[in-house]
Parts: sequence; C-alpha cells; structure tokens
Amino acid sequence: MELSNRQEKIIEIVKNNGPITGEHIAEQLNLTRATLRPDLAILTMAGFLDARPRVGYFYTGKTGSELLTEKIKKFKVHEYHSIPIVVQESASVYDAISTMFLEDVGTLFIVDEHSCLIGVVSRKDLLRAAIGKQDLSALPVHIIMTRMPNITVCRKEDLLIDVAKNLINKQIDGVPVVKDTPKGLEVVGRVTKTTITNVFVELITDNHI
Ligand code: ADP
Repeated sequence: MELSNRQEKIIEIVKNNGPITGEHIAEQLNLTRATLRPDLAILTMAGFLDARPRVGYFYTGKTGSELLTEKIKKFKVHEYHSIPIVVQESASVYDAISTMFLEDVGTLFIVDEHSCLIGVVSRKDLLRAAIGKQDLSALPVHIIMTRMPNITVCRKEDLLIDVAKNLINKQIDGVPVVKDTPKGLEVVGRVTKTTITNVFVELITDNHI
C-alpha cells in the first residue's frame, strides 16, 4: 500500500510524540481534525497506528512488509478455493483424459457413489497409462489413481499458506478441499498452484493493505 505524503507525516508525528490525540496531530499539521479523519482511519485499519480511547494514537512499530506478512498468514482456504472437477471411480482412463481437456484442469479427484474422495489422478498418471499398450476405454481410472489414505487434503478453515507449503513439500499441483461426512471425505473444492499464483497477483493489484 502506497502512503500519501500526509500519511507519512502523520506516522512520523505519532512515532515521535505518541500517544497523541487526533486534535494534536492536526495542530502540528495546521489542519483540522475533520480533514485528518480519513487518513487516521486508513492508517489504523492498515495497522500502522493503533488508537486507544481517551489516550490517543500510538505507533505499532510494524513496517509495511510485516503487516503484509501478517495478512497473508491469515488467508483461509475458503476465501480462495475453486470448484473441484471430479470423476466417478467407474470412469475409464479415456473418460478421465477427456474430462481433463474439457474442464481444463491438471488434477482430477476420483469419488465414489457418495461423492466421497477415493483417489487423485494427475496429468502424468494419465500419460503413463497412455504410453502402455492398453485399451484406455477399458481401463478403469481407479486402477491408476493415487488412492486414499495417501492423499493430501485440506479443509475450508485451513490456512492457505499451509496448503502452499504442502504443494511444495509433497511436489504436487493441487489438493482437494474436503468436508468430513459420516460416509467419508466429501470433495467441496480444490486449491492448486494456480490458486496460489492468483493470490500473489491479487496482492499487488488490489493493494491488500
Ligand atoms: P503431474 O503428475 O502432472 O506432475 P502432480 O505433481 O500433481 O502432477 O502429481 C504427481 C503425483 O502425485 C501423481 O502420481 C498424482 O497422482 C499424485 N498426487 C497429485 N495430487 C495429490 C494429492 N493431493 N495427494 C497425494 N498425491 C497426489
């Protein structure tokens, strides 16, 4: 977030004189309290300043990058996940390849009749199957999938940064977002490397802090 000249000046004043009332900051800048109100609101919301009733404003001591880090660490899966693309366990490898092209995704989640997760197939899993001399429409996808319990999953309330770390550590492109049900893990979303890339770009374009 770019601070205006005036906002920089306010921070300096509070740094040197805090705790200080809005009235006194305004005096030092030869402005009215009302003129300063939006700037003080922005600086407080962004976390540069803190305000205590009847005491005034004080400097939190946090730099812009510290505040950004704090913010990123709080991003939750449910704020960013996308729609999962699933195929039934009875589907063939041929069907899975078609679905991957049609839906334009790199990872498919395989589900049972209750929409519960039983496996994952990636592009390379399908390529591997395709270079064998097998009839792909007769080969069920569940034969070649990576299966439970070896699947890395996440839940809506998980932190996005933890999922990003898992993508790197496990060397995978995506994880399903699951919901615990009596029948198993229902697939409700997906977080992929694209999700993380989008967040990265959004941080710059949306001026998050
Ligand atoms: P690609 O094979 O296209 O490089 P990945 O890196 O995502 O794609 O997959 C590597 C291997 O890990 C594949 O065999 C795939 O089945 C498996 N895999 C993919 N996603 C997961 C996951 N969430 N949990 C466990 N294994 C996974």
